[in-house]
Amino acid sequence: MKIAILKERRGGETRVAATADTIKKLVAAGHSVTVEKGAGLTASLTDKAFEDAGATCGTLVATLKGADAVFAVRTPDDATLAKLTKGTLLVGQLEPHGNKAAAKIFADGGIDALAMEFTPRITRAQSMDALSSQSNLAGYRAIIEASAIYGRAFPMMMTAAGTIAPAKAFVMGAGVAGLQAIATARRLGAMVSATDVRPAAKEQVASLGAKFIAVEDEEFKAAETVGGYAKEMSKDYQAKQAELVAAHIAKQDIVVTTALIPGRPAPKLITKKMVASMKPGSVIIDLAASMGGNCELTKADELVEANGVTIAGYSNLPGRLAADASALYAKNLLNLLPLLIAEDGSKSPHWDDEIITAMALTRDGKVIHDTLK
Ligand code: NAD
Repeated sequence: MKIAILKERRGGETRVAATADTIKKLVAAGHSVTVEKGAGLTASLTDKAFEDAGATCGTLVATLKGADAVFAVRTPDDATLAKLTKGTLLVGQLEPHGNKAAAKIFADGGIDALAMEFTPRITRAQSMDALSSQSNLAGYRAIIEASAIYGRAFPMMMTAAGTIAPAKAFVMGAGVAGLQAIATARRLGAMVSATDVRPAAKEQVASLGAKFIAVEDEEFKAAETVGGYAKEMSKDYQAKQAELVAAHIAKQDIVVTTALIPGRPAPKLITKKMVASMKPGSVIIDLAASMGGNCELTKADELVEANGVTIAGYSNLPGRLAADASALYAKNLLNLLPLLIAEDGSKSPHWDDEIITAMALTRDGKVIHDTLK
């Protein structure tokens, strides 16, 4: 199969869909890889590194010439999509939730699109799960960003000049990103607490040495879907949750929010009033910024200051660790590859495999994903 790797064109996107390591493996398996010139520079990967690994680097047009598949981090821009020939397989984070418009563009262009976000949560697909690989890094980076903004230290320090109290960190949403944020804040010496609406999160939070805080009523006990995601909670639950959070948050120095419900706006968990109750110098890192934010004051890709509290709405935290994020993402794609080819290595997506069925948005000019028809 001939695989094309594009330079990402979305503003602020620093990641790339291949590394020297994955290219070496693809080439060793008999595939050919073309990479658009400069595609890896923002992830510390030079054209030379790609070429040494066996790829050919060239212009966008040269890269796409004869490509069976395009591996991308994000949906390519319209001009690039228009250059893809009919039947090209496009694999990437295509923001598919409810995105009928994008699905139509892929179908009209005859592009067979597979969305990494729809990788099912089954054991066999774990190594292909880009949401997990990227969220894990986002959770880590959230704490690093918080520590850089926070004007105090995280760990307790007993010095001859006096004692520094440990920072109090609160993580809202203990999924993949939240659990890594908890672990990172603990490693830095903070006192950590966390909340989630899924009961399964309770034990995971405790196992990382953090305190679990949640309204544990009947609704909480049924809040997890079969796919492992959270359900949208009732107004009544949200009110009880807000009351509990309000009292807790006033005492926190660092808050990291990661609460998401697939395909829905992020639940608003922190009100303006709660922000006003926090001490000046406190920091909120809102990982849900691109879905509207968990905090009422969050602005995507901005640092907002309110009553001395900084609210950071980085919408692409994995992109702030571009080399590692690219390495893991490229590995996710490499692990998916066996499901995209026939035994002889030619392009042949396994359309009947449950992983491909879940990820496939379009095929042969038609929208085939149930949620997008
Ligand atoms: P996510 O990104 O969809 O959401 C982040 C977290 O926010 C979740 O834990 C969710 O429960 C929580 N949340 C939603 N609404 C909330 C609210 N109102 N208040 C507080 N928290 C709220 O979730 P995720 O990181 O993708 O992980 C969800 C689960 O799936 C986890 O248990 C994770 O371990 C599991 N998972 C399984 C697999 C697999 O089996 N292959 C892969 C990845 C993740």
